[in-house]
Amino acid sequence: MKIMKFGGTSVGSVDSIQKVKKIVEAEKEPVIVVVSALGGITDQLIRTAAMATKGDIAYEAEFDCMVRRHEEMIQQVIPSGSKKRTLGKKIHALLDELKDIYQGLYLLKDISSNMEDTVVSYGERLSSLIVGAVIEDAEVFDARSFMKTERKHHKHILDSELSEQLIRETFRELPKVSVVPGFIASDKNTGRVTNLGRGGSDYTAAVIAAMLDATLLEIWTDAPGMMTSNPKIVPSARTIPHISYRAALELSHFGAKVIYPPTIQPVVSEGIPIYVKD
Ligand code: ASP
Ligand code: MG
Repeated sequence: MKIMKFGGTSVGSVDSIQKVKKIVEAEKEPVIVVVSALGGITDQLIRTAAMATKGDIAYEAEFDCMVRRHEEMIQQVIPSGSKKRTLGKKIHALLDELKDIYQGLYLLKDISSNMEDTVVSYGERLSSLIVGAVIEDAEVFDARSFMKTERKHHKHILDSELSEQLIRETFRELPKVSVVPGFIASDKNTGRVTNLGRGGSDYTAAVIAAMLDATLLEIWTDAPGMMTSNPKIVPSARTIPHISYRAALELSHFGAKVIYPPTIQPVVSEGIPIYVKD
């Protein structure tokens, strides 16, 4: 069984979501698909919250723009029928909640870190529903029910033992395609929504891969692979065909954005290869 992670750009446009559908449906074995929010949405969720909290009414336009983006995506990637209506209802229920939260921020002019975590969680909750509906025979799971964190030094740290137990239970019987929102988690004591830090969807994928003894972790992205340097800055940058975990970890610590650094650790001990795919 393998884990396939698709980042924001891979689920950010109609074209790319359709490619994801093709890639996943071509798999013969069961796969677990981990997705990020539609490209740019996490930043927009944060920006909109900051505007609302400052009392800037322009937050409403920013929010409407996110609503339209998701509506247009559904419109274009799901054929008309009951599946589309069901998805539309679920998406609108989430967007309605989010609207109320923004309105609350606007009225209170105050935002707690828990509220911030709640706001950003909508990105992956929305995208996973859409991707789950696009792919044939996919089942969508809620990562908050098995990615459990605890608060340490003002950070949300994964409780690996508890999460492992819950992940194994959740995926005891694997559907053909499981779709999981990356990045989001919940606090093991309070149940409140948390997350694994910006770029954390890679980490979700790596943790699931390690805990289910996956054969492979595929990180699908908009780069041709791990590169010697940032091709936007260094035009002569080359892709690296093969790299050790250690060197990959170093590169990612020094700013290679292809992989979120904590991603590498869970798969190293299990010896699971990571493939970076374009
Ligand atoms: N959507 C989150 C972010 O933009 C997590 C991720 O994409 O990996 O940071
Ligand atoms: Mg990323």
